[in-house]
Amino acid sequence: MINSAKFNGTNSEKAKIEITKFAGGDRKINYRLRDWLISRQRYWGPPIPMIFCDFCHKSGKGERKEMPGWHSVPEKNLPVKLPFIKDYRPQGTGESPLAKERKFSKARCPMCKNWARRETDVSDTFLDSTWYFFRYLDTKNKNKPFDKQSAKKWLPVNMYIGGAEHSVLHLLYSRFITKAFFDWKIINFDEPFKKFRAHGLIIKDGAKMSKSKGNIVNPDGYFKDFGADVMRIYLAFMAPLEQGGDFRDQGISGIDRFLVRVGKLKAKLAKTSKEGLSENSEKLLHKSIKKIGEDIENLHYNTAISQLMILLSELEKLASLPWHSYDIFLKLLAPFAPYLSEELWQEFSAKGGPASGWKKQNSIHLEPWPKFDPKKIKDERFKLIIQVNGKVRAVLDATIGISEKAALEMAMEDESVKKYISSLAGSPKKTIFVPDKLLNLVI
Ligand SMILES: [Zn+2]
Repeated sequence: MINSAKFNGTNSEKAKIEITKFAGGDRKINYRLRDWLISRQRYWGPPIPMIFCDFCHKSGKGERKEMPGWHSVPEKNLPVKLPFIKDYRPQGTGESPLAKERKFSKARCPMCKNWARRETDVSDTFLDSTWYFFRYLDTKNKNKPFDKQSAKKWLPVNMYIGGAEHSVLHLLYSRFITKAFFDWKIINFDEPFKKFRAHGLIIKDGAKMSKSKGNIVNPDGYFKDFGADVMRIYLAFMAPLEQGGDFRDQGISGIDRFLVRVGKLKAKLAKTSKEGLSENSEKLLHKSIKKIGEDIENLHYNTAISQLMILLSELEKLASLPWHSYDIFLKLLAPFAPYLSEELWQEFSAKGGPASGWKKQNSIHLEPWPKFDPKKIKDERFKLIIQVNGKVRAVLDATIGISEKAALEMAMEDESVKKYISSLAGSPKKTIFVPDKLLNLVI
């Protein structure tokens, strides 16, 4: 906080509390959930299982005092199914298309058994989308919306990826219904999604895709010309998932060339499985396993693919490609190019590779993700910071474990350090050394 008298210097979270107290207010969470009208005068939607009875209405009877005449459909008659009708278009009369279906709308009053009128509005589709992930677990269940045990086993959803436009409607409704289920004690959690990521929008040559502009990208043509793997990698590579990006045809040919190079790699395969990689290549391989694995977890597909490209260039340089590195490369590629990696893997296997005698159950997509060896990716070099009187004057590339004496020698040979020392017209009286980090020369 600045310019705020006694609150100056307070951090914002603390200030919120203190200022509220100062002003004599109350803190409360303001949800953006507004009144939500769930009925629609449309055909498509689940019928609302209610019946209105004129007789009961006149005599003030009903399920609830404040709603005379209204009864819910008895449990044994549920679900009320949407009837097949010929003309399902909105009527323009303010009434639902179901209202003119006498067979549907005529129903017996559950209380007085007289003829009554079934509710003909349907519920908003947003109501269904609030809880579909509960039903998906147990779609065949005829007695209950979903099985408690399945919900306990599979939910809450680990990761929800959707459009940002859902953040105030669908996602808020889902949370609302989930909290209601929790209060009814039919689930044991009160937030439906552990993680949510909004994906970005893909535009075309700088403009938003739209039918009227005629710049919609239809993937079918690209599948035909380049294959699904190229298209898939291109989409994952063009931009960070959360940002979206610009779809350009030139970009696709770059990915096509990348996969063509991948296809040629097998020509370099070593004669036997005995050969290994040099220390440096081995290090890059293990670093790649780590980085690509972490990038996938974090949805950073574009940087994972860059790393695959770096690794490919390294492997291409080898005169003879060790089997285990080819094996790992294909596995790292598999999530991005599922078809090509499987094909190359089968070919490799047929030649005596790791999954010798290929069968369906030996698919590359059933293989465990490669493991990296932390010892192999440890850097031997680090950036040694050189300070003169506490100010950073140079950053030198040094070997991990360098001694104070060797660090001092390196520093004294560095031109910019020399310059600062001579400008102070002195020599180091004292040195402060933090191993593998910094050296401070006190003049
Ligand atoms: Zn009645």
